[in-house]
Amino acid sequence: MVKNIVKDLMPVIFIGHGSPMNAIEDNEFTRSWKELAKNIPKPKFILCISAHWLAENTAVVSKTNPETIHDFYGFPKELYDAQYPAKGSLEYANMIKDAIKSVDVKLDDSWGLDHGAWSVLIKMYPKADIPVIQLSINPKLPLDIHVKIGKELVKLRSQGVLILGSGNIVHNLGMMRLDGPPFSWAIEFDAYVRKSLEDCNIENLLNYTKHRYGRYAVPTNDHYIPLLYVVGASDLEHPKFLCTEIFYSSLSMTCVVYGL
Ligand code: ZN
Repeated sequence: MVKNIVKDLMPVIFIGHGSPMNAIEDNEFTRSWKELAKNIPKPKFILCISAHWLAENTAVVSKTNPETIHDFYGFPKELYDAQYPAKGSLEYANMIKDAIKSVDVKLDDSWGLDHGAWSVLIKMYPKADIPVIQLSINPKLPLDIHVKIGKELVKLRSQGVLILGSGNIVHNLGMMRLDGPPFSWAIEFDAYVRKSLEDCNIENLLNYTKHRYGRYAVPTNDHYIPLLYVVGASDLEHPKFLCTEIFYSSLSMTCVVYGL
């Protein structure tokens, strides 16, 4: 009998996190995240690659009680009051460090959980009873190295680790508008990325700037890079998509799910 490898692996997911307000709102996106979590076996821990932790090194948070970082400005008090008290773990941080071979990984005790991580997890796992370890993004690395690091993390999926990338495929804050339909370039680019994911076309994903709207959709690639880790960790399974709406005309909320 052929072994179904996918069934032995935890899923790996990319969440389009959008506004930090999702942490305290109840909307179609947050309900999808909650529903998604219900269908995933309880993880041993969550490894999160968030768009909001860019660092000079590839680093993992090693502290036991990572603080909830409110890394945004001008939002209501209720959002600043929100806490996500998930534990960290030096042991799990070392598991991640040991799994990654293509770059040196530093243990970090300066970061905690930024809103790319907790604003999503507070909906997926509101009890905060699963340890969460963040892995930083070094934006100076060549893009293919992010995919390579993701590949090195596949083995953690067989040990019950849920890998979560948190960003947005289309993320142009400068062109955001509170009313009005989605920009056609945002729709086209998001669809292009989804098709590239379906076709496992890594070259397209790495060379997104060659798309005619790549520079509009991804003016800076901090929110795009978490997707590259997820693609690497996907082991080239077939993706499913959730929340493919464009929010505020220029943010795509697309989530990508592998292994479920
Ligand atoms: Zn963000």
